[in-house]
Amino acid sequence: MKVIDHINNAKGETLFSFEILPPLKGTNIQAIYDGIDPLMEFNPKFINVTYHREEYMYKTRENGLLEKVSIRKRPGTVGICAALMNKYKVDAVPHLICGGFSKEETENALIDLHFLGIDNVLALRGDAIKTESNFRPHPEGNQFARQVVEQVVDMNEGQYLMDDISLDPTNFCIGVAGYPEKHFEAMNLSTDMQNLKEKVDAGADYIVTQMFFDNKKYFAFVEKCRAVGINVPIIPGLKPIQNLNHISFLPKFFHIDFPDDFANALTKCKNNQEVNKLGVEWGVQQAKELKAAGVPCIHFYTMSKSESVKAIAKEVF
Ligand SMILES: Cc1cc2nc3c(=O)[nH]c(=O)nc-3n(C[C@H](O)[C@H](O)[C@H](O)COP(=O)(O)OP(=O)(O)OC[C@H]3O[C@@H](n4cnc5c(N)ncnc54)[C@H](O)[C@@H]3O)c2cc1C
Repeated sequence: MKVIDHINNAKGETLFSFEILPPLKGTNIQAIYDGIDPLMEFNPKFINVTYHREEYMYKTRENGLLEKVSIRKRPGTVGICAALMNKYKVDAVPHLICGGFSKEETENALIDLHFLGIDNVLALRGDAIKTESNFRPHPEGNQFARQVVEQVVDMNEGQYLMDDISLDPTNFCIGVAGYPEKHFEAMNLSTDMQNLKEKVDAGADYIVTQMFFDNKKYFAFVEKCRAVGINVPIIPGLKPIQNLNHISFLPKFFHIDFPDDFANALTKCKNNQEVNKLGVEWGVQQAKELKAAGVPCIHFYTMSKSESVKAIAKEVF
């Protein structure tokens, strides 16, 4: 079932959903199930599975020279989606990125999803490869998420890349990403929002936000979206902070700020346990306020660790 249908069927009730990462290559899928099992009691309507592109590493050859090798550390997005739908009877939302994909490879990935009965996709650009400073699209691929949306919409209308004849139409519900604190490459929030509007006008059914720790930023973002004519559901994304490393990692990696109250409280935490406890308390507070405001769904970034999300969900759902 489509995410947008879950939202419409809920008739104003706030849904629960979460995102997982495929496990590191060579890890058993049981690790994924162990993370998901504790969250199933909260009746998630869908589970997102991220997509991770290749990275470059240097390996020392026998002759001592370095060799640049390409590796995908977390493959398996499509397989995990199919496994989740089969095991939990829950809808899976695979993430589909531009980076590393030609348009034909995107089309083929969508055909796989269609054949597997997956009705949803989150259309993204993806980030630059870790060793590169800027995002570079595949020479025959899509440059912006909007173009992925357009490609999916074409396929939903039976238009594939190869020629003009109408083929078996797909039936995907399309989500896209939004950034309450601005995408880090955008000149300002207004241009970022215009680009977001283009994605929605191209056919996106809903938006999922980047994580944020200040609900005021989400509410202001929704207000600005509505003012520029973006009228689709905007699902807030929450991430419970879990350890001392997150204090510097999350702002740096996701280009987000902690509000003053939260930052002050974090400064006083002496160990991982204290950060984790504060993360749950903050998450409960955020989620309760968002739910009271009638958001369509609260989407949790688990980063494949479910304890904190479970503790929050227990208080809120
Ligand atoms: C909910 C969520 C899930 C994510 N999941 C993944 C994942 O699974 N795998 C992964 O690799 N990454 C993931 N990301 C990260 C995402 O890929 C990066 O943030 C990426 O840098 C931008 O992706 P996007 O889809 O928002 O890009 P876009 O919407 O294409 O925007 C990218 C930048 O280009 C600008 N832009 C857009 N259109 C134009 C235009 N026509 N002209 C000029 N500038 C333009 C935008 O303002 C923005 O600054 C996720 C992010 C979110 C919020």
